[in-house]
Amino acid sequence: MAPNPDQVTTYLIISSGVFGASTALHVIKSSSSKVTLLDRDHFSSPRRVAASWDWNKVIRCDYPSSRLSTRLALEAQQLWRHEPLFAPYYHECGSFWASNSNFKHVVEENLKKEEDGRSLETGAKVYSVEEAKKLYGGVFEHGDYSGVEGVLVNTNSGYAGEGSCQVGG
Ligand SMILES: Cc1cc2nc3c(=O)[nH]c(=O)nc-3n(C[C@H](O)[C@H](O)[C@H](O)COP(=O)(O)OP(=O)(O)OC[C@H]3O[C@@H](n4cnc5c(N)ncnc54)[C@H](O)[C@@H]3O)c2cc1C
Repeated sequence: MAPNPDQVTTYLIISSGVFGASTALHVIKSSSSKVTLLDRDHFSSPRRVAASWDWNKVIRCDYPSSRLSTRLALEAQQLWRHEPLFAPYYHECGSFWASNSNFKHVVEENLKKEEDGRSLETGAKVYSVEEAKKLYGGVFEHGDYSGVEGVLVNTNSGYAGEGSCQVGG
């Protein structure tokens, strides 16, 4: 039976970047409502200002600044893996951060804290440069590691985009 039009809530969401679009999706899925998304750019506009408009995006949980970001990213990553809408575009190829700062250790620590108390493996590990050069079939062996004192590898990271990638550990 069609919902009574008097009971349908209407929403106007201004901006259809990733936050606006995902808010619209959430509202549509959780209630019988009518959503209008408004953006100053047309989808086919040659000039788009949305930071979320791109050919691909890194999907990662490696955030040094806030545990909230880490937690939200871990939740989002589950959706990338399992939601039929997103999963075809998600490619879990891992990430490789050659880092000359404390970033790698802070990220590893943040992720380990999230692992505690949950049956969760975040895939993050800090390697020495020599160890890291041997990973992924040695593809990063000849990189410029000047000033780098460690590499954060997260086998659970990936990217969203069309196409696929093939990696070996
Ligand atoms: C270069 C770059 C690379 C990035 N890479 C990654 C990555 O690999 N992985 C990742 O997770 N994150 C990445 N980010 C961060 C990510 O893109 C942003 O966090 C995210 O796009 C923010 O989403 P948003 O919806 O808030 O804003 P946006 O995506 O910027 O969307 C804002 C929308 O609002 C519209 N708008 C603005 N003003 C008005 C108005 N007055 N009226 C109507 N509409 C309006 C714009 O047209 C736009 O469509 C990257 C960001 C940048 C800049």
